[in-house]
Amino acid sequence: MEYDYIIVGSGFGGSVSALRLSQKGYKVLVIEKGKWYDGKDFPKTNWNLRKWLWLPKFKFFGIMKMTYFRHVGILSGVGVGGGSLVYANTLPKPKNNFYTTGSWAELKDWESELSPYYDVALKMLGAARNPKLFDSDLNLQKLAKSIGKEKAFSPTDVAVFFGTPNKEVDDPYFNGKGPKRVGCNHCGKCMTGCPNNSKNTLDKNYLYLAQQLGCEIIAEHEVKDIQYNEKEKIYNVIYKKSTSYFSKSKTVKSRGVVLSGGVLGTVRLLMKLKKKSLPNLSDRLGEFVRTNNEALIFNVTLDPKTDYSKGVAIGSIVDVDENSHLEPVRYGKGSGFWRILMWPMVTEKNFFLRILKLLALPFTAPIQWFKIYTVKDFAKKSSILLFMQDLDSTITFKKKWFRIGTKVTKGKNPSAFIPEAHELAKKHAALTNAKSVVVASETLSGIPSTAHILGGCVMGKNKDEGVIDENNNVFGYPNMLVCDGSMISANPGVNPSLSITAITERAMSKIGVKYER
Ligand SMILES: Cc1cc2nc3c(=O)[nH]c(=O)nc-3n(C[C@H](O)[C@H](O)[C@H](O)COP(=O)(O)OP(=O)(O)OC[C@H]3O[C@@H](n4cnc5c(N)ncnc54)[C@H](O)[C@@H]3O)c2cc1C
Ligand code: SF4
Repeated sequence: MEYDYIIVGSGFGGSVSALRLSQKGYKVLVIEKGKWYDGKDFPKTNWNLRKWLWLPKFKFFGIMKMTYFRHVGILSGVGVGGGSLVYANTLPKPKNNFYTTGSWAELKDWESELSPYYDVALKMLGAARNPKLFDSDLNLQKLAKSIGKEKAFSPTDVAVFFGTPNKEVDDPYFNGKGPKRVGCNHCGKCMTGCPNNSKNTLDKNYLYLAQQLGCEIIAEHEVKDIQYNEKEKIYNVIYKKSTSYFSKSKTVKSRGVVLSGGVLGTVRLLMKLKKKSLPNLSDRLGEFVRTNNEALIFNVTLDPKTDYSKGVAIGSIVDVDENSHLEPVRYGKGSGFWRILMWPMVTEKNFFLRILKLLALPFTAPIQWFKIYTVKDFAKKSSILLFMQDLDSTITFKKKWFRIGTKVTKGKNPSAFIPEAHELAKKHAALTNAKSVVVASETLSGIPSTAHILGGCVMGKNKDEGVIDENNNVFGYPNMLVCDGSMISANPGVNPSLSITAITERAMSKIGVKYER
């Protein structure tokens, strides 16, 4: 069997590619490492680790993966639909700084170039303004007011079908060609997988429509190797079952390849292949990796009336300054897994001072700290403050023996101690009778965490400056593209899925038609 295009991974970049290439008459195959998930398959809470986390060695085949490196901890999505299964649905458009910085800045006037593709992306993902604010949004609004930014507060645009709560309707988006949808009931479970068929995950839009045009999707298989036969101008894509310990490799042929495995999937795979199968890849591979300059701080309240678990996962946003944004994130009731990984937030860069402060902290308010760690429902009481900045800071992925590691670069690097983020968290805590806690690795070793890892296959003028050109074509190999978070060439400073969708829409628009449908 020979395909026109094989797409590695079914996240935002992969799904857009699948639909647009199928519409252009190409024979397309998508290979996805994770499982197919349906509303009823998702875990009820994140305590069901087997269904929430992706840890195949332990037979956990869930929708979220946690990966820790020396300089960053990364959360990412796995499954048919990639990160859309686990994400918080939020679709903000980046500000001007994104288009005018990084390795892509000189290549185009990106703001006007991408503008029509952002419109298409918003439409395809079914973006709608969140119609209802709940406790975490109202408390963010309070914070915005207290810092003089009330006008910069707004409800989010989210990929959710609101309609009438719990009422099923025929496809409201694609003239009846899409699946039935159910109105959102604001249960807050978006990040453990929507059980209500209200979240517009990629299997309900791009992938659903692509399948109707003949696109094939193979789940639970991981691409391990891609070899290029220069004489025949064909790629041999080698893949293996990802959900069993023992399985034989299979090979499938294709004229083109789209790498859409997300930063961890694509950059890791290409770094491995550069050693042997794809030696012509740019030396910039693995460089300019960005974390959106992000901080995730859990503010746990002792206010008995507050219930942070209701509403869509991110219901509001405040632009705290021209470079920075703050969003309150929530899990649905009962999803308290994060509690066991949390340590008090300590604002101190020096390790020894940090540990001293950490040890002293419980004595400053012993009863309050005891209550924080023993609250009945951690999800109901914690508002996760997500702070993001479009200021530049990078790290590099590098090959270390048999695995990929990270190293710091010259200039600014991502940090667990972003002073503005800590200041805002403290102000929010004071307003809401809360204490701030963060993932233990941040307090202990200063490693920042991010749900928005980006870059590693950035755009450039030529092979010396980037891995791909302005139309996402990989330098050194014909008909090979990178379309996922790894192509992002500057810090968007906001949640990136909309930008990944828009840039992929643009890349696909540059590919010629095989035959008109
Ligand atoms: C908890 C959480 C909340 C988030 N909330 C938001 C939000 O509100 N808004 C937002 O914009 N972003 C959010 N994000 C980030 C968003 O999910 C990612 O930026 C986005 O999914 C990246 O898209 P992508 O195209 O790079 O690929 P991904 O969506 O990461 O998909 C890549 C897919 O490729 C598969 N894959 C990888 N390697 C291989 C291989 N070798 N063979 C086969 N398959 C492979 C993976 O299993 C995965 O399914 C969130 C992320 C997390 C973890
Ligand atoms: S709030 Fe609940 S019903 Fe609404 S999209 Fe999220 S998970 Fe689905």
